[in-house]
Amino acid sequence: MNESQLFTADELPVVETRNAQADGQVVLACEHASAAIPASLEGLGLAPEARLSHVAWDPGALEVAEHMAAALNAPLVASRVSRLVLDCNRPPEAPDAIPEVSEVHEVPGNRGITQTARAIRAAEIYEPFHARLGQVLDSVLVSAREPVLVTVHSFTPVYRGKPREVEIGFLHDADSRLVDALLAHAGQGPLAGRDVRRNAPYGPGDGVMHTLRRHGEARGLLHVMIEIRNDLIGTEATQADIGRRLATALQSALDGLAPASPSAGHR
Ligand SMILES: [Zn+2]
Repeated sequence: MNESQLFTADELPVVETRNAQADGQVVLACEHASAAIPASLEGLGLAPEARLSHVAWDPGALEVAEHMAAALNAPLVASRVSRLVLDCNRPPEAPDAIPEVSEVHEVPGNRGITQTARAIRAAEIYEPFHARLGQVLDSVLVSAREPVLVTVHSFTPVYRGKPREVEIGFLHDADSRLVDALLAHAGQGPLAGRDVRRNAPYGPGDGVMHTLRRHGEARGLLHVMIEIRNDLIGTEATQADIGRRLATALQSALDGLAPASPSAGHR
C-alpha cells in the first residue's frame, strides 16, 4: 500500500463499497457518510459540539442508503472521511471543498491551508472516492445495462436558526428526467403525505451538483441527488422505513422510464 501522509493504516481505506457484488442497475453513493477526521489533523481544532454535528457529516444518510442498496440490489460507494477534511461533492479546487467555516462553526484546521496540504487531501480523499465510483459505474455498464446514479444525503431541520419544512428533496441540474419521474408519483405511493420537493433545500445554485455532473451528466446517465431531513431518520426503524420507501419510489420511477424492449410490441 502507498504511504499516506494523512492517514494511519487503521484509518484506511478512505472509501468503501458496500454490497459490491450486487448486480442491479442503480449505483448508490454517499459522499458525506462519515464524521471521521484522521488523527494527524487533530480534530481540525473543532469545538466539541461541531465534531459530530451535521456540519461534519450527514447523519443517517449511510444507513438509509444501505437499506436502499439492499432493496434495489445496488452497490453503494461511501466515503469514510468527514466532509470538513475534504468534501467529495465539491471540485477539490473549490474553496468550500475544505471549508474554513461551515454554517456557524469555525474549522481552525482548515484556515490558511497551504496548496501542498490541499493537494494531499485531494489526492488521498477526493481521487480515490471518485475513482471508485467511476469503477463501480463501469462495472454496471459492462453488464450491458446503463447504470443509474443515486446519491444519498441528509440535511439539518434547522439551518442558521431557520426551521425547514421540506422533508425530502430530489435534486437535479440540467437533466431532470429521473426527478420528473419521481415527482410525478410522489403524491401517491410510498412517499404520500411527505413534503417532497424539487431542488430543495438546495439546488444547482448552491454548488452541490459536483458528483451528479461528474458521473451522471458527463455519461448521460439517469441520476438524482436525494436529500432527507435528518430528524426523520434518527432511529434504525425510521432509517429502514424511509430507505425502503425511497427504494420503492425509485424503482417505480425507473420502471416508468425504461424504454420498451424491442420485442415487446410484437408479442
Ligand atoms: Zn450531504
